[in-house]
Amino acid sequence: MRETLRGIKELEELLLKCMKCGFCQGVCPLYQVEALEPSVARGKLALLEAIHQGRLEKAQRITGHLEYCLLCRRCAENCPSGVETDYIFFRAREVLRGIKGLPWYQRFLLSMALKHSGLTAAATALGGALVRATGREVAEKVYQPPLYPRAVVRPASSPFISRKRGWHRASGERDRVILYPGCAVNYIFDWWGDLALAYLTRRGVSVWVPPENVCCGIPAGSMGQGGLMRDLVKRNWETMGAVEASCVVTLCPTCLYGLSEIGPRLADVEPSLAVMDLLQYVAEKGLGEEVSLEGVGPITYHVPCHYPQPGFMAEFLKSRLPGEWVELENQGCCGFGGTFALKNPDTSMDILSPKVSEIRAKGIKAVFTCCPGCALQITQGLARQEMGIRAQHPLEVMVGDE
Ligand code: SF4
Ligand code: SF4
Repeated sequence: MRETLRGIKELEELLLKCMKCGFCQGVCPLYQVEALEPSVARGKLALLEAIHQGRLEKAQRITGHLEYCLLCRRCAENCPSGVETDYIFFRAREVLRGIKGLPWYQRFLLSMALKHSGLTAAATALGGALVRATGREVAEKVYQPPLYPRAVVRPASSPFISRKRGWHRASGERDRVILYPGCAVNYIFDWWGDLALAYLTRRGVSVWVPPENVCCGIPAGSMGQGGLMRDLVKRNWETMGAVEASCVVTLCPTCLYGLSEIGPRLADVEPSLAVMDLLQYVAEKGLGEEVSLEGVGPITYHVPCHYPQPGFMAEFLKSRLPGEWVELENQGCCGFGGTFALKNPDTSMDILSPKVSEIRAKGIKAVFTCCPGCALQITQGLARQEMGIRAQHPLEVMVGDE
């Protein structure tokens, strides 16, 4: 209860920054397919204000609208007021979950206090009393890893980590890194992990693979399991912080975001190492060689929403993999959004559809992306249109004929 009150107070301050300008409408993938106000950040923030008016009976409905979000962060990146929508959405899911878990009499008391005394008074007057009254934590810690559609991409027959945990020493060692595969690479795109390992060790970089797969915490946080998300972030940093390495390299921008940005912020953890996407690391260290894709035909790329440097990714691909690059006008979200695609498969495909149509119209022969979720989603869309191509990680061609 104390945590729920603290969360409500914290949200109130963050919500005040929204000036209701509506700029977020122009970048929200959901608003672009549905044009419904509760889908967009401004609408979600307005709904959250009901909580501060003591209308706790709305918690269930607001949770539904809040969870109807890709957590793509495009609203946060384009908000002129600097509203931290992604942070608000993660925290609000947890807070609403806490409210829903309260016994009826606590919800009633809290609602009365919020309506009549204001939030600060409510927190002060009721906090201690209600905590004593219940004597138990509201949040339960249940986490089920997301299930991915398996028709398009085969699941790993043997998870990457179970095959590759521990140190892989490079001869003529020039650096040491941690390779954090994340759930999707560990269980589905295991060959991306194998390629990264081979690519780095052959270029003098020793690689450490964690002993077990500990999720970055984003799926847990997106389900309102803030406590579990914080535990996962802390666990990852306790493990990785003890390894003698120069940085953490990932193959998933969402894991990167979870490990180095939103996760540490929510868990109040200071990451002890920089976290980089593999391409960023390769560019920074000047590893590898050009591999020509001339003759393949028109090729393109999709920049994942959580990719840390969107401009860099395009530049890297064009310079390191010279070929007939074609820009997509649609560089919007692919519609995957982790658990969003599982809960809302039709909307998810509606968001993707214009991108796949553009790929078809431009006669694209290869699509590159640096995120397993995007690769899964785009490949599924391409397969539905029987285009005979799939979304690949650049590593799949960067290794050349090695
Ligand atoms: S979230 Fe930002 S962009 Fe959206 S309405 Fe509020 S201030 Fe404007
Ligand atoms: S995170 Fe993405 S889907 Fe969610 S409200 Fe913001 S722009 Fe829309």
